[in-house]
Amino acid sequence: MRRKLVAGNWKMHGMRPHLREIDAIAAAARAHPQVDALLCVPYTLIAAAADIAPDFTIGAQDVHESDQGAHTGDISAPMLVEAGAKVVIVGHSERRADHAETSHHTWAKAAAARRHGLNVILCCGETEAEHDAGRAERIVQSQIEKSLPDGAAPDWLTIAYEPRWAIGTGKTPTLDEIATMHAILRAKLRGMIGPSANEMRILYGGSVSGANAASILAVDDVDGALVGGASLTAAKFVPIIEAAA
Ligand code: PEP
Repeated sequence: MRRKLVAGNWKMHGMRPHLREIDAIAAAARAHPQVDALLCVPYTLIAAAADIAPDFTIGAQDVHESDQGAHTGDISAPMLVEAGAKVVIVGHSERRADHAETSHHTWAKAAAARRHGLNVILCCGETEAEHDAGRAERIVQSQIEKSLPDGAAPDWLTIAYEPRWAIGTGKTPTLDEIATMHAILRAKLRGMIGPSANEMRILYGGSVSGANAASILAVDDVDGALVGGASLTAAKFVPIIEAAA
């Protein structure tokens, strides 16, 4: 039985006054212990967020594949652990698009995170052009083939299917399309890691809101959501946690 996971991605949003939202979200998570909830905040908020909500999971949105070195502006897994992060997103489509991150980088980042005990949310998803050309399945399968880290296991790795064209656009695939892609991902994972794939959570991400969460979370093989815009305030995020409960 896979527990639902509702993960927020604050992207490049959030200053210290927003810690009060984290406090309120953590309180709601406490009230729904049957659901796992977490927030991936900007690096600058990780330590403060972990301090104000020690029983709530705080994560980061990226990590460098090396533990240290001449990598200006990057951050390593040991640094994230020291700051209080427990989880990290890798392979987000905004990293792939803005920073030319490939599935090979994603693979190396996931491995670095694992070496230091961080849980990993590994993103995959097709562009609008790939979707319209009927290439979504192949693209997503190939991303998983190239980025799934060695020793991938459900206790530390979660997959997020995020069609790029649905991120921040208010557009979502149909429930049938989501079901099809999640089934394809589950089959792909089974082929790569065997029966433990049945325990691995596969999140859907892309314009999830309080209004559509219940129907998306009810789709077969959807084990939770990765949420951007609607995770920034308790008012928007808590209804998604409640929909998962
Ligand atoms: C995301 O950033 O991973 C995401 C899904 O964003 P949004 O919910 O805003 O579409």
